Amino acid sequence: MNIANFVNRCHLVSGYYAGHVRLSGFPVHLKIELTNFCNLDCRMCARQKMTRQVGFMNRDLCYEILDWASRHCCEFVYLHFLGESLYHPDLQKIVRTAHSRGIRVGLSTNATVLDEAIAHGLIDSGIDLLVIAVDSPRQDQYEFLRKGASWTEVIENTLRFARICKSSCSRTILVVQMVHCDLTADEGVEFLKFWGDNGLASDKFRLIVKQWDDWAGQMAEVREWNTKTSPSVLRDLRPCVLPWRELSVQWDGTVVPCSRFFDKQLVVGSLGSSDLTRVWNDDEMVELRCAHLKNSTASVPVCQGCPRQAMRPWSYLRYDQFALRLRHYCSTGNRVPKRGLS
Ligand code: SF4
Repeated sequence: MNIANFVNRCHLVSGYYAGHVRLSGFPVHLKIELTNFCNLDCRMCARQKMTRQVGFMNRDLCYEILDWASRHCCEFVYLHFLGESLYHPDLQKIVRTAHSRGIRVGLSTNATVLDEAIAHGLIDSGIDLLVIAVDSPRQDQYEFLRKGASWTEVIENTLRFARICKSSCSRTILVVQMVHCDLTADEGVEFLKFWGDNGLASDKFRLIVKQWDDWAGQMAEVREWNTKTSPSVLRDLRPCVLPWRELSVQWDGTVVPCSRFFDKQLVVGSLGSSDLTRVWNDDEMVELRCAHLKNSTASVPVCQGCPRQAMRPWSYLRYDQFALRLRHYCSTGNRVPKRGLS
């Protein structure tokens, strides 16, 4: 166990329980948006509501963030927010840089452009986790949900990636994910069987049936497809753990508290004029933590509509953010829908 990282986690957990709003620990998890460009128009994606400009993160900005992360006990970086990260021209260099700084790194992809060269490049650069969204085991359903994608191509790309992972003895973990909603409610067993029959039921591979998510109530369309399968969402009245755990940086350097603020609904800083150390304890983050502690999030409508994420102190202290993710995905053979991760 890395002692500095453990001490950092202790600071965050004690800060949460003591009700501290300026923290001595630093975020253990960063989400970095390499781009918000995407080639698809998926029905459940918050990009449908996104009004901000489309662009690509400058490579040097990304390196600056990774440098900061490696000096501040960040344990896991997710190179994805909205958009398809495989389109970023420097993706492999960025993954390699994160890896060389000792940060575990992952991303989520629609796999439509995951050809052989990109697959080898990602694995060789040391990516720890690749999540591929294949939302249904049925072609018609998949192509309905993932508007613009070809099921045949995505299956081929996913199986090729799995084969390369196996043959290169890489440490990359591949997760294949489907969404659970009214349209796919009876497909869980079929999904697990399909990928199991294709050799993706082993420790190197994980399968997850993910509960469809309405982005903290901001995607009414998603609710329409999710009237029977959506669990009744009880809003947790405890402070959400995310303001004590992570930050998300959009491609242009705008910092938001979490991915639910996908359209800059609450900006807590900008890396053009500030840095992550300052942003983490600056007034906007302090006010957000205060609002959660007092359970008065009326000033933060996104949090108001969100079920919030609970603090699980023992797991938080015991496992790093990468290990926690793997535990969440460790659902091979289990078709019970799980909540997605931020
Ligand atoms: S309550 Fe929801 S929107 Fe607010 S910080 Fe937590 S996860 Fe994000």
